[in-house]
Amino acid sequence: MSLIISKMDFSKKILDWYEENRRELPWRTTKDPYRIWLSEIILQQTRVAQGTPYYNKFIEHYPTVHALAEANEDQVLKLWQGLGYYTRARNLHATARKVANERNGKFPKDYEGLIKLKGIGDYTASAMASICFDEPEPVVDGNVLRVLARYFGITMPINSSGAAKYYKNLAREIMDRHNVRDYNQGIMEFGAIQCTPKSPNCQSCPLQNGCEALSKKIVSELPIKIRKGRIRKRYFNYLVGIDANNNTRLVQRSKDDIWKRLYEFPLLESESELASGQIIPKCKDLLEVNEIGAVYENNSSAVVHKLSHQQLHTKFWIVETTDRFESGIPVEQLEEYPVPVPIADFIKTFKNSYF
Ligand code: SF4
Repeated sequence: MSLIISKMDFSKKILDWYEENRRELPWRTTKDPYRIWLSEIILQQTRVAQGTPYYNKFIEHYPTVHALAEANEDQVLKLWQGLGYYTRARNLHATARKVANERNGKFPKDYEGLIKLKGIGDYTASAMASICFDEPEPVVDGNVLRVLARYFGITMPINSSGAAKYYKNLAREIMDRHNVRDYNQGIMEFGAIQCTPKSPNCQSCPLQNGCEALSKKIVSELPIKIRKGRIRKRYFNYLVGIDANNNTRLVQRSKDDIWKRLYEFPLLESESELASGQIIPKCKDLLEVNEIGAVYENNSSAVVHKLSHQQLHTKFWIVETTDRFESGIPVEQLEEYPVPVPIADFIKTFKNSYF
């Protein structure tokens, strides 16, 4: 009985807290499935402050699902540049095409239909079904996991087998079915602002009386997450060719790897840092030229770029050739291509320093 009361108490307090503390965000004033979908995809693995300008840019360029469907993939990837996890952008585009071309621009109106679309998993389907169509489906994202683990004192690791089902069932039991739209947004907002990963504001928390983690003094230990895998170090050597026309060369990444279908300079990947003597013999083949001239190391210390499970050590090598690249690209046009962040940063300084 006391657990039931505590669960009812929980959802009421979340709703009251949300009423007072919600942030005004551009997607909070609409139930339009296209806009809600776009915001949810952008905000996965991205903070609100970083994601909001991207949301605004996408709405400005593609105000409807039809407009996004008509864009070409390079344009979508270019607009996404810097957000990372590029599979999200490719799936976004594929789903826009499916909804526009096969469903006359209409998204399915329930969880079961939504989850069948590419790039829409349990979280996004639940968020769309509840926010757009008032379907009583609980959302479980990282913020929700943290709040539930702490409030109910759950020590089951959030990434262990069975955890997704366990937390989803718990979330379903405690949600407010009659106002699921605000409740779902409320608990996520509560996790983002009040019950934050580091330094949660327990002193002014409306849930402090029933919070197991607070009473057992284990707030900083929850939620528990099993550490998986080691960080993989990779060494990227980019060959920035400059031909007789002052053009350079980009290639599109095609393998199932990070940055798929983004553009990059011809790449020599290695197990450790390479010296110029190891780079030079590879230049002709990689740049597809017959002759090479001077080769300069652009940055003597590798630029380190961290991804979730990889650490990239990147060096750029300027390689001059008297040949002419087939499909060479004028350096001033490089910024039109969707490229990974380390290459975008390089291009910004390279244009000014080399020419
Ligand atoms: S008391 Fe602290 S740990 Fe418990 S729900 Fe509130 S902010 Fe989170």
